Amino acid sequence: MTTAWLVLAVSDDDRQHGGNDGYDDDPSQHYSWDDTVPNHGRIAVGDVIALWDKKQLLGVGVISEIETGSQTKTLYFCPECKRADFKRRKRLTPACRCNQCGALFDVPGSKTRQVVTYRSRHGEAWMDGRGLLTGRQLRALCDSPDSQLSMRPARWEKLRDALLATEGLSIEDLGPDDDDGDDAAGTGRRRPIAGGHRMANVRTRVGQGPFRKQLLKDHGQMCAFTGPAPAGALQAAHLYSYADEEEHHDWGGLLLRNDVHSLFDRGQIVVNPDTGRIEVDDELLGYPLYAELHGRAPLVGLRPEHQVWLAAHWRTHRTAVVSVPAGRVPQPVS
Ligand SMILES: [Zn+2]
Repeated sequence: MTTAWLVLAVSDDDRQHGGNDGYDDDPSQHYSWDDTVPNHGRIAVGDVIALWDKKQLLGVGVISEIETGSQTKTLYFCPECKRADFKRRKRLTPACRCNQCGALFDVPGSKTRQVVTYRSRHGEAWMDGRGLLTGRQLRALCDSPDSQLSMRPARWEKLRDALLATEGLSIEDLGPDDDDGDDAAGTGRRRPIAGGHRMANVRTRVGQGPFRKQLLKDHGQMCAFTGPAPAGALQAAHLYSYADEEEHHDWGGLLLRNDVHSLFDRGQIVVNPDTGRIEVDDELLGYPLYAELHGRAPLVGLRPEHQVWLAAHWRTHRTAVVSVPAGRVPQPVS
């Protein structure tokens, strides 16, 4: 089961807690913490990380790496009870109030300590989620909704379902368009088009060398949905938008047969996040080649990164997908 972590990313100004100097956070790329934080050692590569600022979700990523280090840190505490749980007040004097014993003071006690530092890398599969979920909704998703911790465990499935239930999540929001000259390109706005479809903005770089090579190395000559296929018929499908084109990450992509890739980008082939199974739309059920995919599980192990992006893809296109019970045998097109 995938673990998700709700982690608090706030500026120093907003930090309610006075006990530390704040952290160096770039929410879409990194999150930094140290061993003074509860749960500091439990968060792991492959976990989903959801950053929020107490008011709203900022975004969701999957941890691809955790760097550890060491540094000297100044820890502040209440001079009366010696605990670190006090608040720095913006306008009132004295400037600090202890949350534990209620003591008021201008200058907290301090000491230095060697701490283990951690820094996650999660930018490859980052999904901007500003405005999708409120702080209250996020709290409810945590294993302990009343927790005050800065790193809170949550069930990934619950978070994913909450994301899928929002109206805001769509592939178009993930980056600027590169497919056509539509005037909505790059604005992040949805573009409704005929038939209830929305234009997908899954980026495609057909035949892009290193990224495709890496996928071939990892998975072999294997279409993720249909199985073995010659390398010449396989394309690297990007599931996420990426800022740095030099840096592809294999977790953010799948190898798909050319035709399957086209249909996937059009939203005619999707993966239902609830069942984990492939769904093809009505039109494709007329073709045995695609009908046999309906209801089948993907043939490669899907990492959480894949699941995040496939879920977003499904969400974008599901209004256009007519649900047909898996296993129904459709009539071939004559
Ligand atoms: Zn105190």
